[in-house]
Amino acid sequence: MQAQDVDVAILGGGPTGSALALLLARLTAHPERIALLQADSASHYGHTPELDPRVLAVNHGSRVLLESLKAWPQQAALIQTIHVSQRGRLGRTVIRHSDFDVSELGCVVRYGQLHAQLTQAVQRSGVLVLKGASAHVLGQDLSGVSLAQGSLQLRAKLAIHADGMPGAQANRQYSQIALLTRARASLPRAGWAFERFTNEGPLAVLPHPDALGEQSIVWCCTPERAKALQALTREDFSRALTEMFGSRLGTLTVQGPVASVPLGMTLRPHTLDGRCVAIGNAAQTLHPVAGQGLNLGLRDAATLALACRDWLITPEQAPMAALQRFERLRAPDRQLTVRLTDLLSRVFTTKLPLIEHAAGLALLGMDLVPALRAPLARHLLQGLRL
Ligand SMILES: Cc1cc2nc3c(=O)[nH]c(=O)nc-3n(C[C@H](O)[C@H](O)[C@H](O)COP(=O)(O)OP(=O)(O)OC[C@H]3O[C@@H](n4cnc5c(N)ncnc54)[C@H](O)[C@@H]3O)c2cc1C
Repeated sequence: MQAQDVDVAILGGGPTGSALALLLARLTAHPERIALLQADSASHYGHTPELDPRVLAVNHGSRVLLESLKAWPQQAALIQTIHVSQRGRLGRTVIRHSDFDVSELGCVVRYGQLHAQLTQAVQRSGVLVLKGASAHVLGQDLSGVSLAQGSLQLRAKLAIHADGMPGAQANRQYSQIALLTRARASLPRAGWAFERFTNEGPLAVLPHPDALGEQSIVWCCTPERAKALQALTREDFSRALTEMFGSRLGTLTVQGPVASVPLGMTLRPHTLDGRCVAIGNAAQTLHPVAGQGLNLGLRDAATLALACRDWLITPEQAPMAALQRFERLRAPDRQLTVRLTDLLSRVFTTKLPLIEHAAGLALLGMDLVPALRAPLARHLLQGLRL
């Protein structure tokens, strides 16, 4: 059977792969030579995109990118103030949008809505969308990459892994489960997002995009506690949540089902392998603390598109120089964001009072000295820009 010939094959039509397809389509006169291969099956978290329980904090830079791609979801809750605290200790810091001269620090969107907007934009872009079985790279040689999606065979000059899986073996298992749900606050504060560090893991309470006063909850805790919490009635779960979070939003009453996601960090040692390159969660899967995964993945996509701009004009040439440039440019941001989220997810859970106290003091220090707070906040808002 003759293999279908394309310039670029993107494996995985999640947010990162779709954003990359749109960016590349803008840079070529032949968007039909870019193939986006999307599996019909559920994601690695076991949900179809529409029912995915993830609600994502998207930073200012990502919003600008998604708006430029005409893929910004209609429902988005603004984050104007971020309150960071440690349960049972004094340290806390508050980051305000006015500190950075921006109208908002970020927004919260539903994974399903973002996915739907990106999918529609890709359909309008002229990119070749191939839906069906999972896609695989069969091998590569000096002239290209061979791929298969079910019975379909493809030949591409460049293949991009955007399939959300950096490898089967996690570099770190956090022994934490993220419980995801939504809750109504009796004393809502518009535009406020909270990250509360507990000695079992961080608890994020974010404004929910669907309704004012609703909060999106990401509660990271030990597997044992997660199991016990999931066995509770909704009323008892709400009480436990309010007890853990404190009274800053009054009482929290859970509104929907509670989903659970095991947490680990997996870092693909090299994003580049000949004519194949990995971006987004296929390159690195992070702990959700501080909401960095998608933001990092979108920066991967933007940098890769830029690095490939000249190559796309003459795709018969080897893309290696463009890919090496991409890998070099992305390494510092990738390493720093992975290390930062890894540290934040564990530093308050060591059960070593001195370390936890020092971490609390660091939060307090950041609150008192804006010069300490600014670099961390800027990185979390924008990523490392070189
Ligand atoms: C609980 C939780 C909360 C989070 N909160 C935030 C947050 O607030 N902010 C933030 O920035 N990030 C957050 N993240 C991270 C964010 O969800 C991911 O970084 C982001 O979804 C990665 O997008 P992606 O497109 O790379 O991968 P995915 O979203 O995993 O998409 C991959 C796609 O590829 C498809 N696929 C898989 N295998 C194949 C194959 N072989 N062939 C074809 N298609 C395939 C899948 O079906 C899927 O559609 C959170 C993650 C979790 C778990």
